[in-house]
Amino acid sequence: MTKEEILKKYFGYDSFRSGQERIINDILSGRDVVAIMPTGAGKSLCYQVPALMLPGITIVVSPLISLMKDQVHALNEAGVHAAYINSSLTENQIGKALSYAAQGRYKIVYVAPERLETWGFQNFAKQVDISLVAVDEAHCISQWGQDFRPSYLNITSFIGMLGRRPVLSAFTATATDRVKNDICQALALHQPDVLVTGFDRPNLYFSVKRPQSKMPYLIHYLKGHENESGIIYCATRKNVDSIYDKLSALGLSVTRYHAGLSEQERRENQDDFTYDRKLIVVATNAFGMGIDKSNVRFVVHFNMPQSIENYYQEAGRAGRDGEYAECLLLYSPQDIMINRFLINAGKGVNGARPNYDSPEEMRLQKMINYCTRNGCLRDYILRYFGEDGMDSCNNCSRCLGEAMDDPEAYEDHDAVSGARRRSRSERSAGTGRSIDPESAILNDLGKELFTKLRDLRTQIAREEAIPPYIIFADKTLTDMAAKTPLTKDEMLKVSGVGEAKMEKYGERFLTVIKYLTGNTHKVTAVTASGQPVSFDTPPANGKKPALPKVKVQKADFYLTAEEASNFHYKEDLTAGSLAAVLSELRDKDAVKRLVGTTITATIEEKDLAKTTYPSGHLPAVDISSKGEEFGLYKVDKTSAIGNHYEVLMYAKKAQEIVLTWYIKNEQ
Ligand code: ADP
Ligand code: MG
Repeated sequence: MTKEEILKKYFGYDSFRSGQERIINDILSGRDVVAIMPTGAGKSLCYQVPALMLPGITIVVSPLISLMKDQVHALNEAGVHAAYINSSLTENQIGKALSYAAQGRYKIVYVAPERLETWGFQNFAKQVDISLVAVDEAHCISQWGQDFRPSYLNITSFIGMLGRRPVLSAFTATATDRVKNDICQALALHQPDVLVTGFDRPNLYFSVKRPQSKMPYLIHYLKGHENESGIIYCATRKNVDSIYDKLSALGLSVTRYHAGLSEQERRENQDDFTYDRKLIVVATNAFGMGIDKSNVRFVVHFNMPQSIENYYQEAGRAGRDGEYAECLLLYSPQDIMINRFLINAGKGVNGARPNYDSPEEMRLQKMINYCTRNGCLRDYILRYFGEDGMDSCNNCSRCLGEAMDDPEAYEDHDAVSGARRRSRSERSAGTGRSIDPESAILNDLGKELFTKLRDLRTQIAREEAIPPYIIFADKTLTDMAAKTPLTKDEMLKVSGVGEAKMEKYGERFLTVIKYLTGNTHKVTAVTASGQPVSFDTPPANGKKPALPKVKVQKADFYLTAEEASNFHYKEDLTAGSLAAVLSELRDKDAVKRLVGTTITATIEEKDLAKTTYPSGHLPAVDISSKGEEFGLYKVDKTSAIGNHYEVLMYAKKAQEIVLTWYIKNEQ
């Protein structure tokens, strides 16, 4: 089989992502490699695909039991025979696994680095043909990295002991130049091909908010993310407990994690989160190491973290599956104090007095800058890590001109998130970045289908006792909802459905789709520009059904400064006619029209004027002195049958002020 065939058959994907092919070709041609690719970029496939093509066994060195378990589960689900050998197994089980591996039953064996130093494993390794050794999370080899693990340094002596030197490959998401050099030297790589694809995570939406009060804002935010899995990071255990209590009291599906809980409780809570039994985890930064959960849809920082490094690592746990995910930071100046306390406490100093020369304080300052500056957030992060920035990413709260401290702007979460998703796919189309050109926007039917498919996934996960995202990633369910496959062949075209998963689960998912779509293809998704997502296979009767007219989700009414500059004052405008004039200026494809009642409601809210109905149905207008000042006046009218009534009118000044309410600030 070619590498493309393997990609399709086992993993269900049509094409390699950027960088993957180069690494795979290197390995197949016998060259050592170092791949530095961001979280979620797909590093595992870079060694798993060659592992299936090379004659011998592939040994994967991985630092954590939970990571190994996850990967082996995922491989077995994909129909690849793999095993892990670690301290969670009994000696008996280890012996059995090694003897199966020696018989060639496993193509891929995962081990912790300490295992390589044991006699039993060395004995096994000398007897078998090892084609490839892949060192995952390779930054653990460097004392300059974050998670230094001394046993990683002994990998070379293990290699040296083998009869024949296998190809060596190393993978990590975070490596400064220093760490990169350590990896090459400590593993004694032979003229390795070093691939660095950059730190950017284009599918993550970054935003910073400074709400008056964080808790109501958080609750509001979570309401807009019902049924989604997410992490809420807090600075202190006390914060974790109090937020956890409040969210539980509201009936949300939530658990918590911090170092003050017993080990057993921590493990149980982590499992509840991993297995989607609880959708939200409230945690301190003790949570996260070894979490490979791919369908985390949002990471909220209730407090500002201490450094951009910490922030990017924690926020980066969102969207590992490459699907749209949000990273929201709730900032308040008080967070600066909390962090100084924590920094000083770590050094045994009392209080929050800054020591401006300390590296911690400098890192904190950069973090504060991130929260308070005006420019693009992604640009700031990338530059911080020494990469070229991108003036405007069009996928963060600053680039989209969202207000910092105006939670009301979030009343319609669907519209906001729709607009963000749209801007993201437009951006990817414009820049040619590696976002699946299809990350289609599901319409209402599509969303309903997605929910049903996800419910089925949860049910199967319970039956099989494996995490739901190992059965299908969210991305796969989205693609399934968009393509609405009705046959086995169509199902195999869904990204992430390989042959093994088709055999095992395909029918059950097809049944749900047939049921919900009434056994005929319906439009369940549209592209950014509102085109129906097409499917290339016609349904059984040979005719594609007529596509119903598709409604695109539009953002609530707003004008850009440029659009607003086209406004010309007109005499004698009512709220309705003013709304119509303003609506003419908008981008009609992307933005909803403005209606007069929206303007009137704001006028009333601000106590500028009030319309009453003293006679039951005929309006009378009452303008406050503030309202007169604002530029409101009223006129008397007579109806066709001779009734008198009053209408609120907008003079030039009022028209101009109303216009400014709707101008979106593009920074
Ligand atoms: P990393 O180790 O780089 O953080 P993973 O190897 O865990 O990333 O992969 C992240 C996700 O991307 C997984 O769900 C994986 O199945 C998916 N993926 C990897 N390669 C591809 C590809 N070529 N096409 C589509 N999805 C892919
Ligand atoms: Mg990985």
